[in-house]
Amino acid sequence: MTDFFSGSHRRRNPLTGEWILVSPHRTQRPWQGQIEAVAPSDIPEYDPQCYMCPGNSRARGDVNPRYDGVFVFDNDYPALTPNPAPGQLDEGGLLVAAPERGRCRVLCFCPKHHLTLPDLSVEEICAVVGAWAQETAKLGAAPATSYVQIFENRGALMGASNPHPHCQIWATESLPNEPAKELVQQQKYASEHSGGCLLCTYLALEFARKERIVLETRDFAVLVPFWAVWPFETLVLPKRHAGSLPDLSAAERTSLAEAMQKLTRAYNAVFGVSFPYSMGFHQQPAQQAGTEWHLHAHYYPPLLRSATVRKFMVGFELLGMPQRDITPESAAERLRDLVTRG
Ligand SMILES: [Zn+2]
Ligand SMILES: [Zn+2]
Ligand SMILES: [Zn+2]
Repeated sequence: MTDFFSGSHRRRNPLTGEWILVSPHRTQRPWQGQIEAVAPSDIPEYDPQCYMCPGNSRARGDVNPRYDGVFVFDNDYPALTPNPAPGQLDEGGLLVAAPERGRCRVLCFCPKHHLTLPDLSVEEICAVVGAWAQETAKLGAAPATSYVQIFENRGALMGASNPHPHCQIWATESLPNEPAKELVQQQKYASEHSGGCLLCTYLALEFARKERIVLETRDFAVLVPFWAVWPFETLVLPKRHAGSLPDLSAAERTSLAEAMQKLTRAYNAVFGVSFPYSMGFHQQPAQQAGTEWHLHAHYYPPLLRSATVRKFMVGFELLGMPQRDITPESAAERLRDLVTRG
């Protein structure tokens, strides 16, 4: 097993059915990497120019309330609207297009412009989790909604244009590509394993092996998946089978908030900087009655070997398949270490 993991090999992602190339022997190769400018840390607590800060006015004239907890509003420049122009195109199955209805919401985690999620208390993160569950239930209940995607882009490296702590919630009419792949694989696994859940079974396997577990709280576990692509990619999942955030009890939401706080604080400790990432929850599709779906969150941080050296998905990864050098096991060990030192 150890020999196998020291040489190049490929690993299968059972959630998507796709493969990842792992090349541990390459970690020794000389490489300059790209030097990124380190993000400035002198962000003010209140920014009069920020469209998310309390009391400020936004692009279309709305004025934000002087909120002191979470604050949710419709994006003033939404990628999706409830009433797009009608039309259908299908020319020989090659030129295919259809209107896509949807909603785009913005959720501010807190009124303070300079904070990030790991700066918040468990209670404050818990309020965010509660708002996610509420938005998921509300948006998911609309007949035009097939899926509710919650995601956070953190840091300028990930293209976040505003440092104000926030995330986005998009409700779509069709099932987006990534959850669509995961739905197929989870249903396939259940039908081939007498109804067994892919992620429940996977989590039990990881708990038995322990080598990729990063941390656990009472109800949640964080691990570097066996098939991770990004250097410090993690998967956050409830220990019991739950399909969506609204399915979680109050105690489970607190447990999730604790896990997210511990994880994001460990991330910040990896390179001593506010760790950039894209993260998001994959929940059961809105109009799906099935029970195969196991709620989880993916964290995809781009940093590779320092505060300024990031991983790029280019070349073979763009054209062939994703590839990584440091193994998921060594990334998990490093994160676990930082959680313990906390
Ligand atoms: Zn702000
Ligand atoms: Zn499950
Ligand atoms: Zn997923």
